Amino acid sequence: KWDAILLNIKEEHDVTDVSYKTWLLPLKPYSVDKHILTILVPDALFLEYVKKKYEFLLKVTIEELTGISCEITFIPKDSIKEEEPEKKLIQNHTAAVSQLAIQNANLNPRYTFDTFVVGKNNNLAHAASLAVAESPGEIYNPLFIYGGVGLGKTHLMHSVAHFILKNNPSAKILYVTSEKFTNELIDAIRNKNNVSTTEFREKYRTNDVLLIDDIQFIIGKESTQEEFFHTFNALYEAKKQIIISSDRPPREIETLEDRLRSRFEWGLTVDIQQPDYETRMAILRKKEELEGYNIDNEVIKYIASNIKSNIRELEGALTKIVALSKLNNREINIELAEEALKDLISPNAVKEVTPQLILNVVAEHFGINTLDIIGQKRSKELVFPRQIVMYLCGDMTTESLQNIGKALGGRDHTTIIHGTKKIADRLKTDENLQNTVDILKKKINPH
Ligand code: ADP
Ligand code: MG
Repeated sequence: KWDAILLNIKEEHDVTDVSYKTWLLPLKPYSVDKHILTILVPDALFLEYVKKKYEFLLKVTIEELTGISCEITFIPKDSIKEEEPEKKLIQNHTAAVSQLAIQNANLNPRYTFDTFVVGKNNNLAHAASLAVAESPGEIYNPLFIYGGVGLGKTHLMHSVAHFILKNNPSAKILYVTSEKFTNELIDAIRNKNNVSTTEFREKYRTNDVLLIDDIQFIIGKESTQEEFFHTFNALYEAKKQIIISSDRPPREIETLEDRLRSRFEWGLTVDIQQPDYETRMAILRKKEELEGYNIDNEVIKYIASNIKSNIRELEGALTKIVALSKLNNREINIELAEEALKDLISPNAVKEVTPQLILNVVAEHFGINTLDIIGQKRSKELVFPRQIVMYLCGDMTTESLQNIGKALGGRDHTTIIHGTKKIADRLKTDENLQNTVDILKKKINPH
């Protein structure tokens, strides 16, 4: 009977699969006393949201299906916390999303709620993100998501944006990294490409939803922090949704100005932890399904038990195994997996700064393949990151020019000297490059 009620709500009111699974399925009827139905919810976050969004639907549906009219109370399984007052929810309508809107918002089409696996490590962040996606600007503003590298912050942020766009194709949504925000601000201040600060402000302060990724990289950059502060206020006062991600919670960002820190804490702060074994398995299976791979369960288990701290690496491991199998035309088995993953499975967690690490971080940062960086192609998109790798190897490691050349696909030392000098010269005047190099260094060596 209860299931039928939930299903009826889903079908009659166009509740999406993900919303149904997240909000409705976990609800359990607890007791009926006179005309009061008590429903158990998993936690306080749920309670507040479910009450707002589904209490009425539950009431009318129960009445419709059973003829009994009742009052509903929700109680959380764990402790009950006091939360902010009720606000009206907007009624979104479903519509197709144009490709263009996704592009304009800077979204990766693969990063949606559908492809995001929910586990113990991220369920709160997921629930909060979904709540914001359903009611942008209305409940948790800003939403602040923090967690270590490669744990799904960016994926989750994009999911929210996709969801909002789907419900409201005309919503103005913008996703940027804090690096891009900084670089565009620098350009605007210098009036480069004829972009003025007025236009910069117009671009950032007129959004319905602004997502700023990796905010930790504007820390200590005073003019950027100042500008972001005003951007934040303008959006917040207009009740526009702001979503921020960082590698740390606001209180642990030491040099963050207090006025920004307190604003970050106005809304809801949620974290993403490292995935446990079950979640790692589920993510690998999801990826397998999405890519159309068919891999032996033992191999999946082998990956999940050996790669623990980072989902990007988990995916990378799977890709590497498949690539190795295709390349050598070999069957995918444990033996092949061991061989493919021997570099990834390192006993010591602390990462030493090596040319290989620099190469990986730079490739990831520019969204290109490491093989292309060390390859021979001379397009601008590759030469520039390649020279940055050379520069950073010289700057951050004690490797000889010969060794750096070797790590870069066997280039000779004069090439390395030339590339390094190119970057060093540009760094003297190019503030955008200074910012980018600065961020890369922090990504390579966060401590
Ligand atoms: P972060 O921004 O925290 O560094 P990303 O969002 O870039 O991490 O995630 C790294 C990779 O792992 C991406 O390819 C993303 O799709 C994948 N990923 C992370 N979390 C999940 C998840 N819960 N389910 C499926 N894929 C995930
Ligand atoms: Mg990210």
